[in-house]
Amino acid sequence: MASRRHGSGASKASDIVSGVPTGASEGTSSASHAYRSPVDPPIRDPTAYAFTDHFLDRVTQPGRYMTFDAVREAIIHGQLRWNTTDGWRFAYTDAGVRYVVVVEDTETPSPVVVTGWTEVVDSETARAASRFDETDVETIELRSALSDRSDERIPGEIRPREVDRPFTVGNHRVRTTAGDGSVVCTDCGGRFRSKATLTTRHCR
Ligand SMILES: [Zn+2]
Repeated sequence: MASRRHGSGASKASDIVSGVPTGASEGTSSASHAYRSPVDPPIRDPTAYAFTDHFLDRVTQPGRYMTFDAVREAIIHGQLRWNTTDGWRFAYTDAGVRYVVVVEDTETPSPVVVTGWTEVVDSETARAASRFDETDVETIELRSALSDRSDERIPGEIRPREVDRPFTVGNHRVRTTAGDGSVVCTDCGGRFRSKATLTTRHCR
């Protein structure tokens, strides 16, 4: 069965498993869990997954654009990737935006969605999509820039961004105006240029 196809080979970093059929979870009975290992591809049945508090916290945060619908689509149709540090991820792209869903405990009968985020992969398509407005796309791009180099100050990447609806990073709710090399918290007034300071400095 599909879950046995990628044995030791899947332990290599960035081994991309493609072509796993949508119906791969069919026939996966609870009995088969006994033979699963962490490197076996996770099942594609969204109803089998529970959510961690960490994920539930994020799915409701303004400006993350992760939704339960996106999780379901990612698990059923997304590209499956194995990463030696994070384990399995589903990646699903729609309207120019990639939804990345990280899962754990996939070798057990109780797999969980641990975290998820969005990335703009095609800015033009995302901006043209009816579900996103300009601020949405700017928010996703700014959040990615902050996360990609979380320990660095990135005023040059913040400066062109215009985000007038606050989005949550750490426990701050930040926004920025074009020409400003910082994000500003609407609650505490703090100015930040890196994700590291946003996540370590308390609000108010
Ligand atoms: Zn704050």
